[in-house]
This record gives sequence, structure tokens and C-alpha cells, in this order.
Amino acid sequence: MIKILNTISGKKEELAPMDSKKVRMFVCGPTVYDYIHIGNARTFVFFDVVAKYLRYEGYKIDYIQNITDIDNKIIEQAQKEGVDSLEYAKKYSDIFKEDMLALGVTSPEYKNATDHIPQVIKQVQTLLDKGNAYTIENDGIYFDLSTFPDYGKLSGRTSGMADDAVSRIDDSDKKRNRGDFALWKFSQKSDPSWPAQFGDGRPGWHIEDTAITDKYFGPQYDIHGGGQDLIFPHHEAEITQQEAASGKKPFVKYWMHVAFVVSKEQKMSKSLGNFATVRQLLKKYPKEVLRFYLLSGYYRSPLEFGDKALKQAEAGVGRITEFVQKLNLSDGNGKENIEEASTQSQKQFTEAMDNDFNTPDALGSVFEFIRTANPMVNTNSLDTKSINSVKLYLEKVNSILGIVTTDKKEIPEEIQKMIKEREKFRAEKNYEESDKLRDKIRSLGYEIEDTIYGPIATKQ
Ligand SMILES: [Zn+2]
Repeated sequence: MIKILNTISGKKEELAPMDSKKVRMFVCGPTVYDYIHIGNARTFVFFDVVAKYLRYEGYKIDYIQNITDIDNKIIEQAQKEGVDSLEYAKKYSDIFKEDMLALGVTSPEYKNATDHIPQVIKQVQTLLDKGNAYTIENDGIYFDLSTFPDYGKLSGRTSGMADDAVSRIDDSDKKRNRGDFALWKFSQKSDPSWPAQFGDGRPGWHIEDTAITDKYFGPQYDIHGGGQDLIFPHHEAEITQQEAASGKKPFVKYWMHVAFVVSKEQKMSKSLGNFATVRQLLKKYPKEVLRFYLLSGYYRSPLEFGDKALKQAEAGVGRITEFVQKLNLSDGNGKENIEEASTQSQKQFTEAMDNDFNTPDALGSVFEFIRTANPMVNTNSLDTKSINSVKLYLEKVNSILGIVTTDKKEIPEEIQKMIKEREKFRAEKNYEESDKLRDKIRSLGYEIEDTIYGPIATKQ
């Protein structure tokens, strides 16, 4: 039984999809105007794991992520560089997708905002027809919050709260209520613009998501996720638009929000300049290490960023990978049976994941098991049944979390050659030379363990 801590109720609730075994999940994607940083990636890696876990547990899952390719920030950046803003967005959208693949994020289906303008226009028209929206001349179409008494049920804010107008796009002294937000902005100067019966222009910030989900999921669906900074005003506005337009509630059954990656207790952000891009980090660390790091904390708690945390993740991945390597070399002629311990550990893994996708606890159960099994793997004393059971378990873990390095090319040829050379010295009992080589290999960032199966190298 999977339980989700639902932001809107503040309680852990049992996952019961509206359509039995099919889960419809939507996660807010990036605004594509720059490289994404590791803080953004936390949300996307986490929901990739959620999707893969649900699929593993037998759910059918439709997972959509939007790409905001029309936005003030994009227009501003493109103008600074003197390029077309849609082309500018396309460039960073491609970069985003490359970064995601490089991080092993394979589960979402991406939908561009600009591919869904007819759906946006349809929703704006519905809200105008129902009297939920109004026009401000030479500006745009706004949602009238006084027509939606449920406003604030996710974030606890009210339509009159002074800090409601947080986005420049929603700023106007002609608004009926302070918190009213733009659904559509009429075309200005050289901004990208699409024809519409109520005035040519472009979508506001929140409407693209509901236009997209209404098209693929209908007016109601199961899980909506995103970074915790999106609770307000973005997700509150989404509820408002969609429930007002369709008259059906709840718009979304489970709301899940991912906490920030922090650096010295400050949120990592572009404006503070304390960020590291995914692209930079992938040059230094394999994807498994970055995923391990991002999954090493419970998603609703802040995650500290820094060399220490990344080194810990590297060591964790190294330990699992080394264990798997030895396991793959075991011949099964031993007598020890650990099927029961393996089954028990799998149960703990599942319980942790079922408990609001508690990835640190899930990882903990894997490491506890490795500690138990390691002495037997080190001495090649496991029987075939145990080896198969453990392999299946770790394959399952890896298919969900993506934390085991499986790429043999990880150890460069140069290092492999030195390892072979060292073996020769060892065979000749020339330990002085073999130790020298070991030190040299270590200085290049690889640790060698002499096992019953021969030397096993891992990247440090
Ligand atoms: Zn969104």
C-alpha cells in the first residue's frame, strides 16, 4: 500500500488512483532560458523515481511534464542576445532534454507550452463565458478571484493578501482583486503572439499547465508534483482556473512538493549565484553519483549541497557497484544461502518506498543487506539460488533508482593496463613494484581491492 503525504491535506494518504491501476501524473517542468541547476534536477530525478517505482509495482502510468517555452524571462534573455525568443527557448529546451537523459531521467513525456495554444485559448474563453475572467484594455485577461471562494485551499492564502501579486506579468493597478492573475497577455511590441478571438497575445504563467493536462488527462487527475516554491501562486492558480472552468473538484487528488537543494542553508538559485549546473556536475561525476546524492535525502526535506555530500554519494555508489561486480563473478559453488535475508531486505526497500517514497530509508535497507552479504561474497561462498535472488533484488533497485554503475568503460584502458601490470608483479612476488603501481593508480583516482576474483577497481 503506497502512502503519499498530500500537501493539500497535510496527511499521509493511501494512493488510490481515480482510474484503478492507472496513475496520471503531471510535474511542472522548466522555463527554458538557461542551463538547469542541481536544485531543479532534484525534482525531476525524484519524480522519475516515483514513475519508475509505480510502474514496477504494476501501475500503468501516464507521466507528463510541461516545458515552458514562452515566458517573460525567455523574452528578456532572447532580446538581450538579439535572437528570436522561440528559437532561444528551443535551444535551451534541447539542452534540458539532453541533461535529463544524461541523468538517466527517462520516464516523462514532454509537452511544450507553445504546442498547446489552442487549448489555452479554449480555457480562457470558457472562463470568460462563465464570468470568472475579465479584460483589462491593452493589458490582458485576468482571473477574478472574487468568483472562486475556494481560493487558497492549497497554500492557505486568500485573494486579498497583499503579497499575492508576486509576478510582474500579473501586475496591474486596474485589477479587480490584488491577487488576480493573468490568463492571457495581449501582444506588445515584438513579443511572440498568437491570434485569438479575444485579442492576439500569449498565455499567462499558469494556464499552460491546465491547458495541457485538460487535453491529455481531462479536468481531474491523480498526482501533481513540482518544487515547493510552486505551491503559491502557481499551483493555487492552477486549481482556481481548472476547477472554475470545469466545475469539477478536486482538480488533483495528490499534491507532492519537493524541497530545495540548499548551500549553507540558503536556497540554491540563479539570483544568489550559489548554484552548480547539471552540465558542470556531469563532467565531474557519473549520473549514478548525482542520482544517489539527490535521492540520499527525503524529498520533502532540504538537501545540503557540497563536495562532502557528493563525495559521500560517490563512496555509496562505489560500494554498491563493487558488490555487484563481485556478485557477478561468484560461481555459485558455495554453500551459504541468504535468500531469506535478501527477501527481507526487499521487503524493507518496498516499505520505505511505499512510505511516501522515502528514498534514504530505501537506500539504507540496501546497504544493510550489503553489509550482511559482503563477507560471503568476498569468500565466494554463496550458493546459486542466493546469487540469483540477490541479483534480481539489486536489478530491481537499480531499475528504479539508477544508482549502480554498469558501464564497464568507467575504468579507463590506461588504468586497466596498470592493473594487469600490477598483477604480473604480484605473481612474481615483487610487492615493492606492485605497491608502487597501486599508489599510482590511487593517485589517478581509482582504488583497487584484491579479491578472491582478482583485482577489482572502483573510481574514488
Ligand atoms: Zn507548472
